[in-house]
Amino acid sequence: MRDDDLKPATIAAQAAGAMNAADGGVVPGISMATTYGRGPDNALLVPGNVYARDHSATIRQAEEVLRQLEGAAASLLFPSGMAAIAALFRTVPGGGRVVVQSGIYWGATVWVRAFCARRGITLDEVDAADGAALEAACATRADLVWIEVPSNPWLKVVDIARAADLAHGAGALLAVDGTAATPVLTRALELGADISMHSGTKAINGHTDVVAGVLSCRDSGLPVWAMIEADRHDAGAILGPFEAWLLMRGMRTLPLRMERMCANALAIARHLDAHDRIEAVLYPGLPAHPGHEIAARQMCGGSGYLMSVLVRGGRDAALAVNGRLELFHRATSLGGVESLVEHRATIEPHTGIPENLLRLSIGIEDAGDLIADLDRALAG
Ligand SMILES: *Cc1c(COP(=O)(O)O)cnc(C)c1O
Repeated sequence: MRDDDLKPATIAAQAAGAMNAADGGVVPGISMATTYGRGPDNALLVPGNVYARDHSATIRQAEEVLRQLEGAAASLLFPSGMAAIAALFRTVPGGGRVVVQSGIYWGATVWVRAFCARRGITLDEVDAADGAALEAACATRADLVWIEVPSNPWLKVVDIARAADLAHGAGALLAVDGTAATPVLTRALELGADISMHSGTKAINGHTDVVAGVLSCRDSGLPVWAMIEADRHDAGAILGPFEAWLLMRGMRTLPLRMERMCANALAIARHLDAHDRIEAVLYPGLPAHPGHEIAARQMCGGSGYLMSVLVRGGRDAALAVNGRLELFHRATSLGGVESLVEHRATIEPHTGIPENLLRLSIGIEDAGDLIADLDRALAG
């Protein structure tokens, strides 16, 4: 069977066919070597394997799972999501111009602002979910358009196909951070994006025990892709083999986890939407969400595991609810099997995040237990 005939559940469960060549084990081993031998004739024993800064069977296996899930021409792993983002932005020439969605992952915003200032790159931050605003930003030539779909923590949904047309019209590449969707729910490259990025730290690994990031491309002949490959090899931002192996192990259940997490999230969103202590629920699975129709088109199999809720009563009420939750762990990050809650204004104060906003990352626990925990915390 051809790889691209297989469905995500099959690709993931079988780790894209990775096995242990040494002993026939159905689970691959971990190749820990940092360097590779040569024969008496000085030829490499395994052609292509020279030094671990870019040659590792374990990393290539994990990349192949991601490449197939993403429907990509090529995928490259990085030691964090931010390292992947940085590798992409480093391809933008000094004096260039980038259009970046506003109100996205705070770590990316902070780094991109500092990087662009240092490099003399013009940075335009726009609300890319507003079609007219994105169109206006793309009326001027640019090198890169960066969007996050759905966005964290606002859960805004950009129409990826339309954003790709606008970016290309401006002479730019479109790159999509799909961390809150995973490649199981959204295949950004098939919708016209040039580069897809995910933090592997979140749902892709899913067990809150690996930090990783990945970039994938639609066309590996893009000059930017060659620059990214060279940058990873030469500058050395590589993932360790043990992390790559754990990631592969985590990904075996990614489609299954997404099914449960999306079902749980939808049940919780509906429940909280009808709760009198909740002012608003930001979740694209709810019909009243402004991005609902686009999400229904470009997310397949669910609306994701991430949502934000606005608690009636302001900052103190939100922090009190946060403090009374027992099953939701109070911690940053998202996408793990365990549910997490975070008061975002504590992390990014004075950036426009409502003081009463709690971000919820929904795990695979029993939905009824999670709803009971939220009800108890909201009741006070
Ligand atoms: C966490 C996150 C990142 C950064 O990934 P790290 O693995 O923490 O470096 C980027 N984008 C989004 C949407 C994230 O949630």
